Amino acid sequence: MNVYEVANMRGLIIAGNWKMNKDLFETQQFCFELAEYLKNHDEERVLPVIAPVYPFLAKAQDILLGMPVAVAAQDVSAHDEGAFTGEVSAAMLRSLGLKYCIIGHSERRQYHGENDELIREKLLRLFGQSIIPILCIGETLEQRESGETEIVIVSQLEGCLRDIPLSTGAEVVIAYEPVWAIGTGRTATAAQAQEAQALIRHWLQNRYGTAIAANLHILYGGSMKPENIGELIAQPDVDGGLIGGASLKITDFCRMIDVAVEQAQRRQDG
Ligand code: PEP
Repeated sequence: MNVYEVANMRGLIIAGNWKMNKDLFETQQFCFELAEYLKNHDEERVLPVIAPVYPFLAKAQDILLGMPVAVAAQDVSAHDEGAFTGEVSAAMLRSLGLKYCIIGHSERRQYHGENDELIREKLLRLFGQSIIPILCIGETLEQRESGETEIVIVSQLEGCLRDIPLSTGAEVVIAYEPVWAIGTGRTATAAQAQEAQALIRHWLQNRYGTAIAANLHILYGGSMKPENIGELIAQPDVDGGLIGGASLKITDFCRMIDVAVEQAQRRQDG
């Protein structure tokens, strides 16, 4: 069985990374409207995820309790507990009942000096609490233009997943986010996304075997929006999106979920 023969088992994930946006009132408002929309969402192959800021995670969880959606954190501490002012541990996220957490976002790498070693530590803390990391990787414009895309992707995978065993592939989600496409309005073409994500899948297959590679979700992130999501998620190795700006508007977020539902049906039909 090759990786594509089992790929139909993967659903799609539509994850909104809110970054440092939305106050308490706006978070509540969005969640109430999302809950309303989700009353008609019975497609279990499409999982919507929202990642509000830390202080409002509990409120979002409360409003969306029992709904077919996951609430995620945007980051986690690499430490277990103690004197780390401003940090939030994986166990604390677990105590909220969170199932997902973004790590390694390019903004964390760029503005907070995070490297693969630190991101790997965060991944281990999340694994320790059975929280699924949404691990972000991707090259800068300079790296792409100097032909280093593949080297960068492989080195980030090697660094973040060094000596990390996986048993099913469902324990982690990878988000391919070319840095030059994040928040710039410049989306990777469907072909560029597919090429990079096929490379990621190939690396996973070599490292973990066909079944695990086929089971693992690889998302695309970078100026994804209702107008371009269809073409991107139609690619065989694009299992949904990690979406910043366009996830902030409830109508756009729900439109993207609708597109994913149609795509999930197409995948099912083969
Ligand atoms: C992101 O922050 O992960 C992202 C992809 O942002 P945007 O969709 O705004 O480019």
